[in-house]
Amino acid sequence: MEKSVDVVVVGAGVAGLVAARDLVEGGADVLVLEARDRVGGRLLNGELPGGAPIEVGGQWVGPGQDHVLTLIKELGLRTYPTYVDGEHIAEFGSSRSQYTGRVPKMNPLVLADIGQAQYRLDRIARQVAASDPWRAPRAEELDAQTFDTWLRKTAHTAGGRAFFRLVTEAVFSAEPEDMSALWAAFYVGGAGGLDPLINAAGGAQQDRVVGGTQRIALELAEELGDRVVLDAPATDIEWETSGVRVVRRSGLTVRARRTVVAVPPPLAARIRFTPGLPGDRDQLVQRMPMGRVIKVNVAYGEPFWRHAGLSGQANSTDRPLGTVLDNTPLGGAPGVLVGFLEGRHADTCSRMEFDERRAQVINDLVGYFGPRARNPIAYIERDWAEEEYSRGCYGAFAVPNALTRFGPALRKPVGPLHWAGTETATKWAGYIDGAAESGHRVADEILPKLS
Ligand SMILES: Cc1cc2nc3c(=O)[nH]c(=O)nc-3n(C[C@H](O)[C@H](O)[C@H](O)COP(=O)(O)OP(=O)(O)OC[C@H]3O[C@@H](n4cnc5c(N)ncnc54)[C@H](O)[C@@H]3O)c2cc1C
Repeated sequence: MEKSVDVVVVGAGVAGLVAARDLVEGGADVLVLEARDRVGGRLLNGELPGGAPIEVGGQWVGPGQDHVLTLIKELGLRTYPTYVDGEHIAEFGSSRSQYTGRVPKMNPLVLADIGQAQYRLDRIARQVAASDPWRAPRAEELDAQTFDTWLRKTAHTAGGRAFFRLVTEAVFSAEPEDMSALWAAFYVGGAGGLDPLINAAGGAQQDRVVGGTQRIALELAEELGDRVVLDAPATDIEWETSGVRVVRRSGLTVRARRTVVAVPPPLAARIRFTPGLPGDRDQLVQRMPMGRVIKVNVAYGEPFWRHAGLSGQANSTDRPLGTVLDNTPLGGAPGVLVGFLEGRHADTCSRMEFDERRAQVINDLVGYFGPRARNPIAYIERDWAEEEYSRGCYGAFAVPNALTRFGPALRKPVGPLHWAGTETATKWAGYIDGAAESGHRVADEILPKLS
């Protein structure tokens, strides 16, 4: 069977769905092909005991993320603040402290070191964010080194470097050695600085979506109705200047004048394009691997840490579960702690048997919050590297020399092919906001070409 439309969108994550919605509003005939049996991609709601939804994928939104905040409003959804009242726990090496506000208690030398390194990172990030990163001042110098190399030159204490490793794992779900320093600066700049990336109140983790963040995608798909086709992985895209033919695994084909490829770069590389894509585009996607994260939500009868004056936020430079936050649903029960095994910790823990990994996570929670953390009523984990149609999270990053050599191929259309997805955003790349930005951009690229 063959179907003809103006635009076929590959991928029903936020990027593809936003593109489809804008295109439909602009009068285009659109079909969205989604490989999974659900929409949302990296957004997914699980279920807690009692039935409340819990996010096992992307979840928080925060100030400055105007695309997603507008979308949430347009879809009639609401947000509520992440619980942050009380003291946070910080473990840096062997020293543990409890603190309120933004700055953990630590050795003043280390604190000063972190402060000066963050100042330098923010300054470079501002310059990089002011244009395309490959055009930034000192772009080549930054792109020729890993973020780790840059940090070793910039942070002078072991404690300072350990802090930035923890931050890199929490923000990129990768290690500083993995990525280009230019990519790190671009990412930080796109968020307006390091603080907006790492903070809950006032930052990217400030708010949650009532009903779970996958609702954004579910509502968009509801609007699009039968234009969204599930269980439809695109395997082959045959293209020429006059149009495209997208083949689904089942052998069904869709003909279209334009195609939006709204999947992460490593997955775009798994689609067979005929004729083959230009070398620059292929070289770029060969250099953009996904980060790696296992997200765990651990539920308790009640949020017992709140009664002890704790916010539920905990960080450690040494524990595999390096970042934890309170993820209790709006109703206040059950109590939920969400934790992340990121980068190298995801590597190690994914190789464990389920029981061993669960025990590791619970041990870390007991270490942070005491013996009451020993007996959860539910343990919900998702290893995103195991997902056939994500192959890692939170997003892709660029390795050294990728952006300066091939960066322009990130967004540049190839004939009738247009590239969306959070990794193609100019701001908040890797976030839901970036996905929405990219969806709007491709629709703006395509609509004038259809008339
Ligand atoms: C554990 C976790 C925590 C996160 N936390 C946050 C957070 O708190 N805040 C935040 O803003 N962001 C967060 N993110 C990141 C955020 O979820 C993503 O940036 C965003 O959802 C990406 O949307 P997208 O549309 O670009 O890509 P995706 O959501 O990956 O969508 C791509 C879609 O394409 C489909 N697909 C793939 N290949 C094919 C094919 N060949 N044919 C058809 N369909 C295909 C996939 O199934 C998927 O549905 C998190 C992500 C994870 C996994």
